[in-house]
Amino acid sequence: MLNLVLDSITVFEPTCFVDVILPLALPGTFTYAVPSDLESAALPGVRVEVQFGRKKIYAGIIRGIVKERPKDMDVKFILSVLDDTPVVYEQQFVFWDWMANYYCCTIGEIMDAALPAGLKLQSESRIILNPAFDRDYTSLNDREFLVAEALDVQHELTLDDLSKLLQLKSVYPIVQSLIRKQVILIREELIERFKPKTETYIQIHDKFLAHDSFKQLLDELERAPKQQAAVLAYWQHTHPLRSASRSIQRRTFIQQYQIDASIIHALCKKGIFITEERIVGRTDSLEESILSSFNLSAIQEAAMAQIEQQWKHKPIVLLQGVTGSGKTNIYIKLIENTLAEGKQVLYLLPEIALTTQITTRLKSYFGNTIGIYHSRFNQQERVEIWNNLYNNKHQLILGARSALFLPFRNLGLIIVDEEHDSSYKQQDSPRYHARDSAMAYARQLNATVLLGTATPSLETYHNVKEHRFGYVKLTERFGDSVLPEVCFVNLRDEKRNKQMKGYFSNTLLEEIKKTIADKKQVILFQNRRGYAPYISCEQCSYVPHCINCDVSLTYHKFSHQLKCHYCGYTKAPLSACPDCKSTHLSEHGFGTEKIEDDLSVYMPEARIARMDMDTVRTKNSHNKLIDDMQQGNIDVLIGTQMVTKGLDFDHVALVGILSADQLLQFPDFRSNERAFQLIQQVSGRAGRRSEKGKVIIQVQNINNPVIQFLKHHDTDGYYTWEMMQREKLSFPPFCRLAEITLSHKDHKTVKNAAATTTDLLRQTLGSRVSNAIEPPVNKVRNEYLMQLIIKTERNSSVQFHLRQAVEKLRKHLGHDKDLRSVRLRIDIDAY
Ligand code: ADP
Ligand code: ZN
Ligand code: ZN
Repeated sequence: MLNLVLDSITVFEPTCFVDVILPLALPGTFTYAVPSDLESAALPGVRVEVQFGRKKIYAGIIRGIVKERPKDMDVKFILSVLDDTPVVYEQQFVFWDWMANYYCCTIGEIMDAALPAGLKLQSESRIILNPAFDRDYTSLNDREFLVAEALDVQHELTLDDLSKLLQLKSVYPIVQSLIRKQVILIREELIERFKPKTETYIQIHDKFLAHDSFKQLLDELERAPKQQAAVLAYWQHTHPLRSASRSIQRRTFIQQYQIDASIIHALCKKGIFITEERIVGRTDSLEESILSSFNLSAIQEAAMAQIEQQWKHKPIVLLQGVTGSGKTNIYIKLIENTLAEGKQVLYLLPEIALTTQITTRLKSYFGNTIGIYHSRFNQQERVEIWNNLYNNKHQLILGARSALFLPFRNLGLIIVDEEHDSSYKQQDSPRYHARDSAMAYARQLNATVLLGTATPSLETYHNVKEHRFGYVKLTERFGDSVLPEVCFVNLRDEKRNKQMKGYFSNTLLEEIKKTIADKKQVILFQNRRGYAPYISCEQCSYVPHCINCDVSLTYHKFSHQLKCHYCGYTKAPLSACPDCKSTHLSEHGFGTEKIEDDLSVYMPEARIARMDMDTVRTKNSHNKLIDDMQQGNIDVLIGTQMVTKGLDFDHVALVGILSADQLLQFPDFRSNERAFQLIQQVSGRAGRRSEKGKVIIQVQNINNPVIQFLKHHDTDGYYTWEMMQREKLSFPPFCRLAEITLSHKDHKTVKNAAATTTDLLRQTLGSRVSNAIEPPVNKVRNEYLMQLIIKTERNSSVQFHLRQAVEKLRKHLGHDKDLRSVRLRIDIDAY
């Protein structure tokens, strides 16, 4: 590791210069001079410590070497070089450039999104002691020791504090070294919510594998009979004739052979046993799945052949397969083939925390060649995977959208599972779409792409129709599993005939009862959390609103609060109307809590659980819910869209959707598409095994065309119809849509900014720019919002003009003293 530091900057005429990317929302790169003793280390892709402005220090990345001295520029020297080998490949830079260009943001913002926290440093970064650090200071030099000691007392320091403490301008190399030695961590605001379920496995040390050394070990343990017995039990259990694995689960070992935990502990301390934490699945034990290789069915085999055939002409193929058709199994075989060619594979998933089951399936099949990467994994693991990949140790990465930024060397295939899922779109800046970016990256690298889903996005569907993408379809579930029967309950009729209990139709209640009586499970879907979305006064119609946002407060019965779902503001529920003092307050609408509450009244014996953002807040609650469901400790699981994603339970026989209308009513041109996909996905949760499942959908407006298509299982009909709507109203995929949002705490300022923005953009883009309007929720977190939409043709010259116009706009706002503080958010291909 290089720890080259210039303590005092020598004054000499520099001959070497580098362009550095800094994690800032400022355009372009920045030129720095390289002191002669760092010249050989200052390579493209290596991180360097630089000062920017008067005070701030950042870790930036060298984009390239500049041979000539920049004219009339007062260049600073880089302070240190942080890596001895590059952390970013040239091909990644090319991808970053594409992204910055396409999404109209700066290369610095892309860098900020791309690097894991452990590779990012700046003056305000806060460091803490790594909880795993065992206070063994022997490997630390004097300065490192000072830092560790200070953190022991002060708990948390910024890099600025550190610089003062050590009286050094350049502290990043010390920090970098301490991170590498796993003594400190960069503190992240993000709390790590997800932790995969792990089990401890025991294995004997390699050196005892040979017959002689094993016998010798037994002799040595003669005086510790319990330890000897444990070693013998291990040997018996893992004997090649009985087991294909050399390791045994600690828990099984203790239970099956009645071995005391302290004995195992003692053997581990002696280095005889070695323990390993493994991520395990909930359905099947890891051991079994490692052994169970599988064959594709004839239909799956044919689909796979078609995919490979189509890749020859079209690098992007859509695999549309109904839920349960075994798409994952096809992915596995394709991954295997690509790996066999010596190429790397990226498997992208939306919101990986919600799909532990797929993680488990892949992990158990591919073992340690697979790296798992997403924002909820801890930073140490993420940096490790980053480095491993750079050093070619992983061949397969399973990850959420940020995995796209990993340093692949030889990427051959990207799988985008559930390609329609809107969580592929990053909601913070840069607002990139991981599916679309993946396709662009694959084009750059000459890699192939497989998009998989049961319900394609309209964009993808359009690309298939236009013959840009290949297309393969799977219409049958795997094995004896059959698609569920879908029934619609017309709520208007039910109400007229007094067949309702609260928000439940009798039909749905009866089916729930029957299902539980059959010892089967039920999933109920309601896309709102909380108890009642709003409360109003019956006398004067007063509705409690958030003080920071322009939205009504949702009543949460369980925590006994009124909550804002936009900013998190809470207040105590009202006992009387603050305006007219009336105590007649009524609740409107219903969320998951109300469903849970009501159902427990109608069915006091049922074991009911709820899965939404409120119940899966803590680290393990999500896993526990899945576990309980899997083990049959829950009869009815009520949830928001969390229950729709990738869950595969054996005994769910009934799925109920309480209000399909609510899904269709969002003021967004994609609401029909979302509703269609969501209902199909939830329905897919029913009857995953041999028995036929049932889906009951409650709906007021049965004549809604989307409902009619669903009712007649007419997926193709729906897509054709939706396409016509989009074309008629000129929405994507028939145009590109960019959304510009301006926000400011002063209402007048944001309106002025909107007027200026509209004028300015129209100079280049003309009538493609809409009038600025206030969005339906026009105030969030005390900032007023204004929005305008730009609809453009889908071609690169317009893209170029759009980018130019946005840059001009940024400059203009930046130079206007009144509008400078207005925040500008640009969402290309608005999602
Ligand atoms: P999808 O992702 O298309 O919804 P899955 O890949 O989850 O479907 O497959 C559904 C179920 O069928 C899973 O439990 C899977 O293990 C099983 N399955 C699918 N194909 C095979 C196969 N070829 N051999 C064994 N099991 C299979
Ligand atoms: Zn009132
Ligand atoms: Zn609010």
